[in-house]
Amino acid sequence: MVDRVANIWGSRTPFGRGAKWPVRVDQVLADGLAEGDVDRWVQSACVLCSNGCGCDIAVRDGRMVGVRGRGVDIVNHGRLGPKGLFASWQGVDNRDRLTRPLVRRDGELVESDWDTAMELVVSRSQRSLAERGPLTHGFYTSGQLFLEEYYALAIIGKAGVGTPHMDGNTRLCTATAAAAMKQSFGCDGQPGSYRDIDECDALFLFGHNMAETQTVLWARVLDRIAGPDRPLIVCVDPRRTDVAVNADVHLAVRPGTNLALMNGLIRELFDHGWIHQSYIDAHTVNVDELRAVVDPWTPEAVGAECGVQAGDVRRAAEIFGTSERVLSTALQGFYQSSQATAASCQINNLHLVRGLLGRPGCGVLQMNGQPTAQNNRECGADGDLSGFRNWANPSHVAELAELWNVDVDVIPHWAPPTHAMQIFRYAEEGSIDFLWISATNPAVSMPQLGRIRDILAKPDLFVVVQDLYLTETAAFADVVLPAAAWGEKTGTFTNVDRTVHLSEKAVDPPGEARSDLDIFLDYSRRMGFSDRDGKPLLTWRSPEDGYRAWQRCSRGRPCDYTGISYQRLRGGSGIPWPCNEEHPDGTVRLYADGNFPTDADYCETYGMDLLTGASIGEKDYRAADPAGKAILRAGRYVPQHEPPDEEYPLQFSNGRTVYHFHTRTKTARAPQLNRAAPAAWVELSMADAARLDIHEGDLVSVRSRRGELVAAVRVGDIREGTVFVPFHYGYWDSGRSAPDGHPTAANELTLTEWDPVSKQPVFKNAAVNVQRRAAGEGPAPAPTTTASRPAVTGRVPSPSAARRRRLRNPSTPCPHRPWRAARSRREVSGLPGDAAPRGTDPGCHLPSGSRWPRR
Ligand code: SF4
Repeated sequence: MVDRVANIWGSRTPFGRGAKWPVRVDQVLADGLAEGDVDRWVQSACVLCSNGCGCDIAVRDGRMVGVRGRGVDIVNHGRLGPKGLFASWQGVDNRDRLTRPLVRRDGELVESDWDTAMELVVSRSQRSLAERGPLTHGFYTSGQLFLEEYYALAIIGKAGVGTPHMDGNTRLCTATAAAAMKQSFGCDGQPGSYRDIDECDALFLFGHNMAETQTVLWARVLDRIAGPDRPLIVCVDPRRTDVAVNADVHLAVRPGTNLALMNGLIRELFDHGWIHQSYIDAHTVNVDELRAVVDPWTPEAVGAECGVQAGDVRRAAEIFGTSERVLSTALQGFYQSSQATAASCQINNLHLVRGLLGRPGCGVLQMNGQPTAQNNRECGADGDLSGFRNWANPSHVAELAELWNVDVDVIPHWAPPTHAMQIFRYAEEGSIDFLWISATNPAVSMPQLGRIRDILAKPDLFVVVQDLYLTETAAFADVVLPAAAWGEKTGTFTNVDRTVHLSEKAVDPPGEARSDLDIFLDYSRRMGFSDRDGKPLLTWRSPEDGYRAWQRCSRGRPCDYTGISYQRLRGGSGIPWPCNEEHPDGTVRLYADGNFPTDADYCETYGMDLLTGASIGEKDYRAADPAGKAILRAGRYVPQHEPPDEEYPLQFSNGRTVYHFHTRTKTARAPQLNRAAPAAWVELSMADAARLDIHEGDLVSVRSRRGELVAAVRVGDIREGTVFVPFHYGYWDSGRSAPDGHPTAANELTLTEWDPVSKQPVFKNAAVNVQRRAAGEGPAPAPTTTASRPAVTGRVPSPSAARRRRLRNPSTPCPHRPWRAARSRREVSGLPGDAAPRGTDPGCHLPSGSRWPRR
């Protein structure tokens, strides 16, 4: 038995460069069940992060009772991580699921029926539309619905209601991924593939704690590290994550300085001639501007600004500049920081100036956070136009009008789509008075929660919430609609490397809960939305109807799904788009021919200035039409907007832990995961803790200019001067929907500020102070694994030395990690699992005999 809570990535299956990642099928079944007890296995894929691991759901007596990885799937080769194993099915099969609609009567939410609830929604919607028009309506959705559901919502919002106020919580996690790809390549869509891990010589992880956020992808990296020809690893992260532990170069940059570092790395490439001049000439534009912008950023200048060693900057640049095949990945450390798009575009630029795209081992993965974020962006439920069309290109808008058979002026395209932060601002001001929130929990996940709660509580704002549980946000709703969960409905979704999976319905939803698609279609029907012939706008009768409609919408666009049918997705692996007559088996890597979708008639955007967000505009773009060449966008570095000062001397950053996903609506209902990370904590460096006379487990107050939170301290391996708090923790599991005098949510502290291009909120730069409130009674409730492990009190063995020892003899088990030697073909996780006992460290970077920091 392998405890997959303590042993997050499972046993190693080493492989060398260019070899196939071995299959290892992970499986878990409910306590006491064996495989023979399972009635049937139903094909799906995991929706607890963006990795998109193929899996089968175990069903017995009409209930989900477990899950196993699909060995045939190109994404995971059978593996599943702790969240997929424990939370996917246990996270939805709970007694506290919403089973009936709720409506607010005399200030209280009371159970109702669908007709009553929907008539309330429709009458309020019709009244607002009649009295004040479509700009009264805002739709705020998720990164966790299915493609068909997003597409229905996009059509309803754009062609039914006619509002530009549509966005998803993808704005909070992956808007910058989309923005950076649009800016550089002309269109959203991941150039690289997970398979590039198998082929690369060097792997750069920019603000991407892959070890905790995409555990199966990290297992693939660990298997490359454990095999021959291991890739060199460069990690950019202020915390000593497991990525950093395994890195050859760890650049623990000061939060808010990513762009300075990136400018320095590119300058080094130019300076040393580590560039592919003929590729630059043939396939890019704007190189002179890029050279000029990066020119001041010598390694010493980078070191001074970012707080890292100039030699480490040089070494990282040398690895990038001299490796034959480089894969880069990025996530929230870049996306949720200041100048997010500018820094992320520089990742693209590193690859473009070296011509490292479209070949095995050479790729960029501008990661997503959520499982179906990609579909939201493709379908346009987030404010983009469906099919990666350009809202500023009249012919693209006309194509959609033709597809939906509506007048072109119905589709809002007179101004940029409204992003989430602005939608909530309009609700605050009162111009939006009807806000429909589906499958997301802004009362925990958005910045500056005190303000968000005030907005949601406004008496003149009608709030509809559609979700599985009575979340902190649902508690503010006027109407709550119970939604069916993963495994209770059918639909498709697409992961980071564009691989499309079909998730089949395995069991019925509880009570009267309905799929999100059915809810949207019902709203459209009741509202009487129609096309220009007077026929219903949406006539779909099943998810597959919606999928076929989407295929028509995607035809000829970069995300072409026309070759991927439900039938093709059944039985085998997921398939990466584009898949059409030209690419009948899908497409592993984009841009192999050096042609980019930047042509003015085809591109998804005309671009923005990276410093200000000012639109470049059609006229200027056409005047310098890159016509198929990538654009080397460059942005001048400016310091963050809320630097530490005397009153707030520390830099606050929120983030993720391996055991939870988003606001824990599912993962906290998996007992194994909840035991591993039951409550919020505050990570402080040893130096800061000593200076403030704070010790492991002490209760502290963290204050910013916007709020306060109180939690126990983990003295950890984090850059001095910074404070980290996981963002997952709200209030629902304490029976509250708001702090009520006991604030513990990280976003009580964060800033209402966003990147000028992607409009992604800046969650990772805020000034705070920390004060001790009470002595602790034991260690903080933080995991003892991964980046949240306690700080080392003694000497830390050099990671590279430890790795070298293991590399010399990979079959030798680490004395602290006996499972490193296990190489079973199938890993069966026992239930109930448990986290490692406190005081031990399965993360195994502790020197023998080291202890927890003591007071
Ligand atoms: S890596 Fe992500 S998609 Fe895969 S099992 Fe874990 S949570 Fe699910």
